[in-house]
Amino acid sequence: MPQIDDKLAPIYEEVLRRNAGEAEFHQAVREVLESLGRVVAKRPEYLESSLIERLCEPERQIIFRVPWTDDQNKVHINRGFRVQFSSAMGPYKGGLRFHPSVNVGIIKFLGFEQTFKNALTGLPIGGGKGGSDFDPKGRSEAEVMRFCQSFMSELYRHIGEYTDVPAGDMGVGAREIGYMFGQYKRLTNRYEAGVLTGKGLFYGGSLARKEATGYGNTYFTRAMLQTDGNDFDGKTVVVSGSGNVAIYTIEKVQEFGGKVIACSDSSGYIVDENGLDLELVQQIKEVRRGRISEYARLKGEGSGAYYVKSADGSIWDVPCQVAMPSATQNELTGKDAKTLIKNGVLAVGEGANMPCTPEAIRAFQQAGVKFGPGKAANAGGVATSALEMQQNASRDRWTFEKTETKLADIMRDIHDSCYATAEEYGAPGDYVAGANIAGFIRVAEPMLAFGVI
Ligand code: GLU
Repeated sequence: MPQIDDKLAPIYEEVLRRNAGEAEFHQAVREVLESLGRVVAKRPEYLESSLIERLCEPERQIIFRVPWTDDQNKVHINRGFRVQFSSAMGPYKGGLRFHPSVNVGIIKFLGFEQTFKNALTGLPIGGGKGGSDFDPKGRSEAEVMRFCQSFMSELYRHIGEYTDVPAGDMGVGAREIGYMFGQYKRLTNRYEAGVLTGKGLFYGGSLARKEATGYGNTYFTRAMLQTDGNDFDGKTVVVSGSGNVAIYTIEKVQEFGGKVIACSDSSGYIVDENGLDLELVQQIKEVRRGRISEYARLKGEGSGAYYVKSADGSIWDVPCQVAMPSATQNELTGKDAKTLIKNGVLAVGEGANMPCTPEAIRAFQQAGVKFGPGKAANAGGVATSALEMQQNASRDRWTFEKTETKLADIMRDIHDSCYATAEEYGAPGDYVAGANIAGFIRVAEPMLAFGVI
């Protein structure tokens, strides 16, 4: 089991003490600290300046009340969050998650990860994350709009194109960004296009932003496969989730010749032995906002498609050569990893943030499975957000091809720098160490330059 270096252990102890009960935040910090022993051995100045302690403490944490009225005039109170983690590289940048599981520990783990992920993109963006424990499932359009307006009525005073630039995450897509952008514009009397990313194409959004996280993970995972002369061509692939990340992962994998046979939602998973019909998945999830079980029902018996409830099995029981977990944190356990390894998995690319447990990651690495951690593999979404900011700042609009080409180049750079950094620090093939170290150094250098702030 990877250990935290003795010199860094007190930092972790302090994180545990100060952030009691925030298990996901502890997990995210632990993983990074496990990689940094190799760095401080070479560069002791990172220890002397307490830089790592500073990086484990968000620059600012905002928690606020979000009151809203449902269609029956009943008042609901949700909690809103924005954790502004690090502005060493640029304005805080990261998504907003609307999901009932959201609490400050979840937002902190996401903000911490985001800081290193954003640094890996090589673009000038700091790290932050936010959201609410609001559950959009089953809510009407009008309810979602009123919630978003109320949420922005507080958030607007903390953000800005040079301060903090939120975007989407689970439960927040173009519809929610539209309502929030409208409210921000109304409250501030400014058409500040660069204050949010993931906008609609008619008011400053970027082509290829919607596709970017899934496409990016596919480019990254392909680059990992290519280090052994492999590719997606002819491979069987399982992608968990059926949201934005999963859908565009499936699209790109299919374009590269892979056969995606399963995807899921929080209720269960579907398998289609003939390869998923992506248009049908999109129709169910994007257009009707329905449940993935409908896929098997619509395809009918004898079609090769079937549905399994979460209670009756794990999507990772489905044999595949490439696994792309794109649902949520800790969805793929040590037991799932063992099943995947037994079934001959070659590579795992994390589309979601921290979807594999530490036990799963360890199992993959010990078995020689190529493992791309989310902070590298799913960085294409936020990288394309930064490209959206570039277009907004220059009042320009790029073609899909130009934007996707830049995304592909960025993913190649991230892959290569993780790979090279892992080699340089004595952990060849370990993309976790490579991503943590490369991301950390990029954040640490400006922090050293700025002094103790
Ligand atoms: N929520 C996405 C992520 O986890 C995207 C954030 C953004 O575009 O700012 O990276």
